[in-house]
Amino acid sequence: MDNKTLWNNVLTEMEISLSRANFGTWFKHTNIYKQEEGIVFISVPNAFVRDWLANKYHKSILTSLRANYPEIRSIEYIITKLGESPTQKEQMVIQNKVETTPDNLGFNDLYINRDSNLNPKYTFDNFVIGPFNEVAYSAAQAVIKNPGNNYNPLYIYGNTGLGKTHLLQAIGNYLKKINNDKKVYYITSEDYTVDYVNLVRSGKGNYFKEKYRKYDLLIIDDIQFFSKKEGTQEELFHLFNSFYENNKQIIFSSDKSPKFINNIDDRLRSRFEGGMIVDVNKPNYESRLAILQTKAKNMGLNTPDDVLEYLATNIQDNVRELEGSLNTILCQVQVKKRMLNVNEVKNLIKNNIKPKKTISIKDIIKIVSDFYNLEEKFLYEKTRRKEIVRPRQIIMYLLREDFNTSYPYIGQKLGGRDHTTVMHAYEKIKKEIKENNNLLQELEQIRNLMYNN
Ligand code: ADP
Ligand code: MG
Repeated sequence: MDNKTLWNNVLTEMEISLSRANFGTWFKHTNIYKQEEGIVFISVPNAFVRDWLANKYHKSILTSLRANYPEIRSIEYIITKLGESPTQKEQMVIQNKVETTPDNLGFNDLYINRDSNLNPKYTFDNFVIGPFNEVAYSAAQAVIKNPGNNYNPLYIYGNTGLGKTHLLQAIGNYLKKINNDKKVYYITSEDYTVDYVNLVRSGKGNYFKEKYRKYDLLIIDDIQFFSKKEGTQEELFHLFNSFYENNKQIIFSSDKSPKFINNIDDRLRSRFEGGMIVDVNKPNYESRLAILQTKAKNMGLNTPDDVLEYLATNIQDNVRELEGSLNTILCQVQVKKRMLNVNEVKNLIKNNIKPKKTISIKDIIKIVSDFYNLEEKFLYEKTRRKEIVRPRQIIMYLLREDFNTSYPYIGQKLGGRDHTTVMHAYEKIKKEIKENNNLLQELEQIRNLMYNN
């Protein structure tokens, strides 16, 4: 097969899984430049596309290439000029688009630093402090003053959407800002596990050790998702000891205090307990209002006081939902080209205020397949038919967004899919609801079925 045919095969597959706009943006003017010793060199028109492909689509592209040639090992992206160098112009157009798009529409993910894996959008500057999180905030400040010495490890726990990831990453971003030589690394426990298992499987266990031991600050997020898999925890235990002995800081987050996490080795648990443990709580009314004010301002939303007060009164559980409500308003404001009044906001938000109810994954799968009129069993199959792929992605999105279910677990429940597929689905839907009102409405109806029946 020549390179052209090979690349066409890949494109055909990518096209199925992406929206048309996305596909056009990222894959236009891409080609296989050459293949050498199992490395495929993909030519891209600019750095912007390169970073995006490398960050977002790398695994899908590689998988797809390997489906054609299993011996392909890796991909390199190279920037090539097209004809009269439209590169710079194109890049400008796209970047302008990003700049005029509000910060929280997910575009920032694009700028995730590849060395530190930190997202620069999480800073202390845009972190609101209140009684609900001031202990965690002070602990974070203490760590910053004297990393590795005061509180090691720092362990922050609390329910989802209360700012743990934000705080963790703000520490990392701050330390990098004041000293760019500091080797900081942020990773979720899920990705850590995947990295470990992959490297060990391919005989590179030692590389794994070296890679993680070289950091000065290691941040591991959501450790409740640590699996007991194949020595992962044992390795983390040794890694922790090495950090500790060298006075290098390590920070964890979780949804529970160490005492209550299942699935964790006792000696690791005792390490967690040996440091500083702080929690974050639900914000009180004043904090909720302050968060809304700050965020509305950052989004350029000129929201009337009564709207913010309405939101602060009715959305009580977490910061993510507060932010979500502002995003919903922002979408409408963009459609209507004017601010909404409090009654319009009430109507808009009503369906998003979730009554507490327990619901199983099976129920959700059933509700979504009924909603889209398809037989449940298709969802578990390997098919890529759009009418099935889509509802499946929606289920994945809901499980993650509303229940914070782990990616691997979602994949497992939906026919044994890889966690990267789930992550991709989640990001895809999350992004699309910002642009596609129909989808937003479908989700609203599905949530209605989930929560109100
Ligand atoms: P967690 O990791 O606890 O689930 P996140 O850190 O992801 O929560 O927070 C959810 C969203 O709310 C993020 O967009 C984050 O920026 C925002 N957020 C959380 N806490 C705060 C805060 N104190 N000030 C400003 N934004 C916050
Ligand atoms: Mg988090």
